[in-house]
Amino acid sequence: MESLPRESGGQGVGFMKRNLIKYYSTNLKAPEVSFSEALLKGLAPDGGLYMPSIIPKIDRDEILSYRSKEYHEIATGVLSHFLKNEIDDLTLSELCRDAYNFDVPVEKITGVKNILRLDQGPTASFKDFAARLMARIMYFFMSARKCKFTILTATSGDTGSAVANAFHGLENIDVVILFPYYEVSVMQRKQMTTLKGNIRVIAIDGKFDDCQQLVKKAFLDRSLVEISLTSANSINIGRLLPQTVYYFYAWSRLAEKGNENVVFSVPSGNFGNLMGGLMAREMGLSVSRFIISTNRNNEVPEYLKTGIYKIIAPSYNCISSAMNVGHPSNLARIIAMYGGVMNEKGILLKAPDIERIRKDFFGASVTDEETRNTISQCYNKHGVLLEPHGAVAWRGIEAFQEQKGSGASGNHIFISLETAHPAKFSDEIKGILGFTPSLPQSLKTTTDKTEEYIKLENDYIKLKNYLLKH
Ligand SMILES: *Cc1c(COP(=O)(O)O)cnc(C)c1O
Repeated sequence: MESLPRESGGQGVGFMKRNLIKYYSTNLKAPEVSFSEALLKGLAPDGGLYMPSIIPKIDRDEILSYRSKEYHEIATGVLSHFLKNEIDDLTLSELCRDAYNFDVPVEKITGVKNILRLDQGPTASFKDFAARLMARIMYFFMSARKCKFTILTATSGDTGSAVANAFHGLENIDVVILFPYYEVSVMQRKQMTTLKGNIRVIAIDGKFDDCQQLVKKAFLDRSLVEISLTSANSINIGRLLPQTVYYFYAWSRLAEKGNENVVFSVPSGNFGNLMGGLMAREMGLSVSRFIISTNRNNEVPEYLKTGIYKIIAPSYNCISSAMNVGHPSNLARIIAMYGGVMNEKGILLKAPDIERIRKDFFGASVTDEETRNTISQCYNKHGVLLEPHGAVAWRGIEAFQEQKGSGASGNHIFISLETAHPAKFSDEIKGILGFTPSLPQSLKTTTDKTEEYIKLENDYIKLKNYLLKH
C-alpha cells in the first residue's frame, strides 16, 4: 500500500494525466515537459537541465520491503514512482529485469565500513546501471513514435563504453561519442571503438570539458534539428533516475534496526552519481550524509568551504580520470534542489541555502599520491582491491572520520561506492601493487578486436559538418 498524498486518488486516464510528473528546466526559461520528452530532448531548450517538479515519496514500509527483493525488483519499485504514468508496470519490470542481469556485491570491510561494487556490468563501470536502463526506456518511447534519433555523448572514459554497449545494434538509433584523446585508457577506448555498426567514435584533441561543451553547443544549434539529437550524458534526466536505485539497494542490505545512520561516499566528477543519491534521500531514504569525494579537481569541496564557486579550467589530469571535471554539469541540479539557480557557465544567479548544503555534505579532495597510498593500504590491510575512483571514495571516508566536529563520532554505517573494475586501470594497479588484476570476462574479448574511430580538432564547426554529413 502506498500512502502518497500527491498520488492518491481515483483510477483511470484522468487520474494518470493529473498526476503526470512534469520536468522543469534549471534555467527556468523553458516550458515544463513530461518524462519522455525530457528524456528524448536531453537538454532543455534554454540550456538548462531537466528536473522533476515533484519528487515522489516512498513510504517506510515499502523501503523496508526492499530487504527481501532482488536488484531488478527494487529498480522496478523505486522507478515506478516516477514513471508509472508513462510506462506500465509490467513493461517497466521487464526492462529492469533485462537491464540488471549482473551481480551487485555489497562487501563488509570493517565493522562499519562497506563497499558497494558497481563494477560487474558488461563494461565494468557503474555507468552500466544508468546506460542500460536508459537505452531500453528510450527505445521503448522511440518505437512508439517511429522516428530516428542520434545520441550524441561526451565521455571521460566510462560513459562512452556503457552507452555504446547499451545502444549497440538498436534500430533507428545512431550513437556518436566524443572522447578526450589523451585522457582515456587504451582499454576504455577499445570498449567503444571495437563495436562499430551504429556506434561512431570521435577522438577530440582536448579535454573532457571541451567534449562536453561541443555536445551542449550541438544541442542548442537549430540547424541540427533534422537529425533529432539527444544526449546520453548525465545532463539527461534518464541517466539520473536509474542511479537512485543502488542507494536504496545498498541501504536495504546494510541498514539495521536501530542503526539506519548511513553515510555514502561518492567519487564524483560530473555529479550525476551524487544526484542519484540526493534524489533517493528526497524520496525518503534515510541518509545522514553524503561525502563528496573528488580528486584534485576540487571546485565543489572548495565551494562548500568558502561559499565561492570557481571553475577549474583546464581541469587537472588525475589517475581517477573519469573525475577530471572542472565544472560538473549536474551542479546546477544540486543547486536547484537547495533553492538556488546556477546557469550553464557556473554563475550563481540565485544563491542556494549553503548552510543546509554544508549540513548534508562533507567535501574531500584527494591527491593522486593519497589515492595510490589508499589502494596500497586497502590491499595490504584488508585484502581489498580498489581502483583509483573507488580509492578516492574510500579515502573520503577516512578524511570524514579524521575531521573533528564533523559529526563523525556518531554511530554510522559507511558505504563507499566502487565505480569501476580494477582491471580497467591495470597499469596503475601494477605500478602500485606489482601485479595485474585479472580481467572480467566482458573485457577479455574486447582487447583483440580491431578499432575504428576518427580524430577531430576541438572545433565546433568541424563537429557540426561531420554530424550533417553522416
Ligand atoms: C563517471 C565516473 C565517475 C564520476 O561519476 P559522476 O556521476 O560523473 O560524478 C566516477 N568513477 C567512475 C569509474 C566513472 O566512470
